[in-house]
Amino acid sequence: MEEARARQILHVDMDAFYASVEQRDDPALRGKPVIVGGRSRRGVVAAASYEVRKFGVRSAMSMVEALQRCPNAIVVPPRMRHYADVSERVFDIFHRFTPLVEGLSFDEAFLDVTGSQRLFGDGIAIAKQIKGAIREELDLTGSAGVAPSKFVAKVASDLDKPDGLVVVAPESVREFLEPLPIERMWGVGKKASAQLRARGFQTIGDLAATPVESLEAVLGSWGRSVHELARGEDDRPVVPDRDAKSIGAEETFESDLKTVEALERPLLHQAGRVAARLSRSGLRARCVTVKLKYHDHTSKTRQMKLPEPIADTDSIYDAARSLLPRFPPIARGVRLTGVSVSDLHEGPAAPTLFPDEKRARREQIEALTGELRERFGRKSLTRGRLLDHHARGDDDD
Ligand SMILES: [Mg+2]
Repeated sequence: MEEARARQILHVDMDAFYASVEQRDDPALRGKPVIVGGRSRRGVVAAASYEVRKFGVRSAMSMVEALQRCPNAIVVPPRMRHYADVSERVFDIFHRFTPLVEGLSFDEAFLDVTGSQRLFGDGIAIAKQIKGAIREELDLTGSAGVAPSKFVAKVASDLDKPDGLVVVAPESVREFLEPLPIERMWGVGKKASAQLRARGFQTIGDLAATPVESLEAVLGSWGRSVHELARGEDDRPVVPDRDAKSIGAEETFESDLKTVEALERPLLHQAGRVAARLSRSGLRARCVTVKLKYHDHTSKTRQMKLPEPIADTDSIYDAARSLLPRFPPIARGVRLTGVSVSDLHEGPAAPTLFPDEKRARREQIEALTGELRERFGRKSLTRGRLLDHHARGDDDD
């Protein structure tokens, strides 16, 4: 009975997305160590091909360090508009199998295919068809996890990259999670994992077996969610962006930020993610909200209504930044920032007088956002409304 009713959730994540697109488009790059990122002194690695990962090059690493590790790497500047176009094609494939597609970034999404099985077969069959279409139509690869919940599907998709397909049956969820290291938990970053390991927790099974109170003692109110997830209890629905009342991105920092200037970069990064999701859904927004969580875990939000609906990164960022002076002083530290938009409307953006200039500027910012996104860890970014406390993904492209 339980099994018969179990949901079929897919998490699909493209492999080394930006780098793979570059290798696909330029045969001279195939099989070579390729880094997508800025060449400048302060440039960071936005994406690393699998060939260059062998040298220890990783996303978010400084370009200087990356080139020390692999002096022969080929550095390609990011083409964010192009990746956004390829992303559209990937999401088009997802939408053939279910309308319930919830994007987490350009290259990863949750799909609820429970209701699609009569047409397309079970979750495994659908994952294979999606991977096949991505390969045949786009000449790219993605990895998929199939499970009864979002959390388990996301963990599963990351276990056998690249070109992976990991299936977790409903009755095997606990057994699947138990031996995994705590760093695989959604939400456990370096800081939390150090705290947990110091107290003897090493595997997700350890987290599941302990009383919830001992996790709350280490992690605060977030301990309860971790306890539930560790036990495979996760009934969060897949919410398509189109049905969302709001779209948001937020991030918890490893160490608190203490100046307004320091907050600007994560806000830009989050505005970019929100803009990407808006444009993919054909939506615009008239309300922008910024959330700050302070060092003592209190949260404040400030929001503004806009005269015209907006959808682009710099408009969202400008609005978000203009809200900062309305917050209480941040000198004692901010541990999380979030940007979300609401009052969503369908339809194309209003025409502008100088569309090309506007677009050029937007492209610049999107390229920058791509770098920042990696620097601040796309790992830590997901929609705020999903995991209210410490939203962190844990994929590596
Ligand atoms: Mg990816």
